Amino acid sequence: MRFPLPLPVFFTTGVAVSAIAISACTTVPDTGRRQLNILPASQEISMGLTEFQKYKQEKRISNDPQMNARLQRVAAQLTRVIPLPDAQWEFVVFEDATPNAFALPGGKVGVHTGLFEITENDAGLAAVVGHEIAHVVARHGGERVSQTTMTGVAGSLLQAGLKGASGITSGQSSAILGAYGAASSLGVILPFSRKQELEADELGALYMARAGYDPHEAVAMWERFAAYKGRAGSGSKPEFLSTHPVDSTRIAKLNEFMPRAMSEYRG
Ligand SMILES: [Zn+2]
Repeated sequence: MRFPLPLPVFFTTGVAVSAIAISACTTVPDTGRRQLNILPASQEISMGLTEFQKYKQEKRISNDPQMNARLQRVAAQLTRVIPLPDAQWEFVVFEDATPNAFALPGGKVGVHTGLFEITENDAGLAAVVGHEIAHVVARHGGERVSQTTMTGVAGSLLQAGLKGASGITSGQSSAILGAYGAASSLGVILPFSRKQELEADELGALYMARAGYDPHEAVAMWERFAAYKGRAGSGSKPEFLSTHPVDSTRIAKLNEFMPRAMSEYRG
């Protein structure tokens, strides 16, 4: 759900942003990585809640009993162990043949019906959902927007526009939501960085292990995704794969992480 980035020329106000950044470092739980986050978590959460409400009104919700039961089962396991204290958890299956899933700040998770044939089983679904929620726990959307706001033309775009009551610009808001996979209006291309993807893979594997799923199933699931991509051909690249490139490096890195994940496996 990302759209081309328009490139209007605005003038930056970089000095003001730099001053804010000094007191805007946060730490990612479990990896301990320090990151830049210039926007308060509360603003991200209220955006996530609003966006999910909109998404539910605009998209068809699936009544498929098996898919819904599987998602709720996996959700019950994962939410016991995922460190997202302010979450108002909600897991919804949407009618959409595109294999995709997303998680928004505030604990709102959407899974497309088209994803279930690739995830295959509970552990496979836990791998994707755990990965998506890891992006939220690690506040990767806010971090991406913060990094971009500090530099370059996209940053100028993010700073432009009227600030709403929450003090956040419309550009920043849609960029954050876009990063989490749910941009609706303006739409700025701001995919997660490679580093963030690897971090989400590792956190997702940890959550799986703590929730009682063998984290090796995450590796198997990404391999199924790679096979699906091969079958679908280069002409029809599904959204999830366009933002989650599956390659041998990624799978190898996840494999390297297995000993740590297995040390927390409660199977
Ligand atoms: Zn990801």
